[in-house]
Amino acid sequence: MKSWDVIVIGAGIIGLSLGISLRKQGLRVLIVERGEPGREASYAAAGMLVGSGTEVPAPLRDLARESARLYPEFVHELEDESGIRVDLREHGTILISSDGRFPEGAELISLEQLATIEPGLAGSEVFGSARDARGRPPLHNPMLLSAAYVTERSVDPRALVSAAIKAARHREVDISSGAEVKAVVVEGGRVTGLQTEKTSYSAAIVVNCAGAWAGCVGPQRFPVQPIKGHMLAVIGGAGLTHVVRSEAVYLVPRSDGRVVVGSTLENAGYNKQADVNTIQRLFHAALELAPGLTG
Ligand SMILES: Cc1cc2nc3c(=O)[nH]c(=O)nc-3n(C[C@H](O)[C@H](O)[C@H](O)COP(=O)(O)OP(=O)(O)OC[C@H]3O[C@@H](n4cnc5c(N)ncnc54)[C@H](O)[C@@H]3O)c2cc1C
Repeated sequence: MKSWDVIVIGAGIIGLSLGISLRKQGLRVLIVERGEPGREASYAAAGMLVGSGTEVPAPLRDLARESARLYPEFVHELEDESGIRVDLREHGTILISSDGRFPEGAELISLEQLATIEPGLAGSEVFGSARDARGRPPLHNPMLLSAAYVTERSVDPRALVSAAIKAARHREVDISSGAEVKAVVVEGGRVTGLQTEKTSYSAAIVVNCAGAWAGCVGPQRFPVQPIKGHMLAVIGGAGLTHVVRSEAVYLVPRSDGRVVVGSTLENAGYNKQADVNTIQRLFHAALELAPGLTG
C-alpha cells in the first residue's frame, strides 16, 4: 500500500508549490483536492506580485518582499519542468494616488512623465480631472493626483497553475482529486492522516492549504473568511505596458493583449455568481483610467 510523508489539503498555487518544494527535498507527497486542481482563487487572481505596499499588512511585508524576490526563479523552474509559458512580466507598476501616499521604495513621477512612459493612459481622467479651478494642468497643483512607479512583476495565474500542476506531476507528487477532505485525523494528540468523504489517508504530517475553505476542515477551525472579487478582461483595445493601480481599480496587462480589470472586495460568503451591474461599474472605472481600452 502506498504511503506518504506529507499530505497537503488543496491543489491551489499554495498547495501545489508546497508539494513541489517538499518533493524536491525527497519527501513523498500527496495533494488531496476536492474539485479540479487549480480552479479556485488561484485561477481567478489578477497575478500582481506585490512585494511592498500599504495593502500588505506590516507583519507580512518582509515575507512578501522576499517572496516577490524569489518569484522569477520559481517561475523559470516551473516553465522548464512543464514546458508552459507563465507570462512573467517585468515592466513594473504605476500607482495613482489622490493623497500622495505611496509604499516605501516607490519612485514619484510627474504626470508629464506618466504620459510618456504609459501612452496607454492617453485621455485618462488622471490628467483631465486633476485640472484646478483656473484650468491649470495638475503639474501646477501636484496635491490633486500623483503617480509613482514601483518595480513589481506580474504573471498569468491560469498559466501559472497549469505549469505548477504539470511540474508537480513531473516530479511525482501524487494528486488525488474529486473527494473533499472532511477532517484531519488526530490520535493521542498527534496527526495521523485525514478523512475524505470517500476514504482515509495516513501521514504523520498534514498541511491545510485549502485557501478560503481552510477554516472548514476540522478539528482545528482556523478563523478564515472568504472575500469575493469581481473581475473582467478587455480584449482588443489600446494596450498597456505597465500594471496600473488607482484607488478605484487596477489594470493588469497580459502579453497576449488582454487587460485584466479588478477588483471588488465583497463580504459575500462563498457565492461566486457574477453580477452584471458590478462588472459594469468596474468597467467604467477602468475606462476613466484608460479610455483607450475599448479601442
Ligand atoms: C479576484 C481576485 C483577484 C486576486 N488578485 C491577486 C493578485 O493580483 N495577486 C495576488 O497575489 N493575489 C491575488 N488574489 C489572491 C490569490 O488568488 C490567493 O491568495 C491565492 O490564489 C490563494 O491560493 P490558495 O492555493 O491558498 O487557494 P486556492 O487557489 O483557492 O486553492 C485552495 C484549494 O483548496 C481546495 N479545497 C478547499 N477545501 C477543500 C477540502 N475540504 N478538501 C480538499 N480540497 C479543498 C479548493 O478546491 C482549492 O482548489 C486574488 C484573489 C481574487 C479572488
